[in-house]
Amino acid sequence: MTLPTPQSFFIDDGLYKKYSLTGSSPAHFSSILNGNCTVDAYCIKCKRMSIWQGYTRSFDLKPDQPVDNQERNITFRCAYDNNHIMRFLLVIINNNIFKIGQYPSLLDIANPEVEKYRKVIGDKADELKSAIILHAEEYSIGAFAYIRRVFEFLIDRAENTAKKNTQWIKAKAEEYEKRKNSMPSRIELLKEFLPQQLVEKRSMYASLSEGVHNLAEEECGAFFSSMRIGIIAILDDEIDRRRKVEEEKEFAQAQDEINKLRKN
Ligand SMILES: [Zn+2]
Repeated sequence: MTLPTPQSFFIDDGLYKKYSLTGSSPAHFSSILNGNCTVDAYCIKCKRMSIWQGYTRSFDLKPDQPVDNQERNITFRCAYDNNHIMRFLLVIINNNIFKIGQYPSLLDIANPEVEKYRKVIGDKADELKSAIILHAEEYSIGAFAYIRRVFEFLIDRAENTAKKNTQWIKAKAEEYEKRKNSMPSRIELLKEFLPQQLVEKRSMYASLSEGVHNLAEEECGAFFSSMRIGIIAILDDEIDRRRKVEEEKEFAQAQDEINKLRKN
């Protein structure tokens, strides 16, 4: 396989996956072998997603030099705090590159990252974790299926909420019954109960389904990073949306109570 993006290689892949250096552009080569790149990943110290800048203390490798039998140490620094670091150990053997070590481990990062979403998706957090682990083990079609289930869960829950809302029932329920077999229509008609990011990324569902039904492992593997970043953006937005709903409820309650206390 040819070199993937730094995001795939460092963050989403498990260890020992083999990539050929043949045919990679100088910039792409340097982004991975010299850590000349940024990646998005959860910071276990900041307890939030962060942007990480890569670098290496060793001399820069160039694609036109022989690079066989070398070890590379790549370090990334968290954008929020320079002392938060991730380290990776790579080896190059017969013009193939392998990631053979990383700290923190994939699970050290995935566990707290996923726990953050348990308060908005409950047990589905485990399915998100399964997606991350399956992809790392090179079962990326399965990983797509798990991400799709999280996506579907958000839509189903929005539907349940909508069906208890008298305004929505009056305005949209009839049309919904007619068009609910199409996912884009479902999303359009339920959008007031969905995170904005999901409404904007509605085409993601078709991509996930394409992966589950028609793409090869390798093709799903190549697109996994985008799907992971997509679902995380949706879930972060769902946390915000729920907080706003709670705040509005509290505000309305407070108004009610003040009205009751009015002397006139
Ligand atoms: Zn940090």
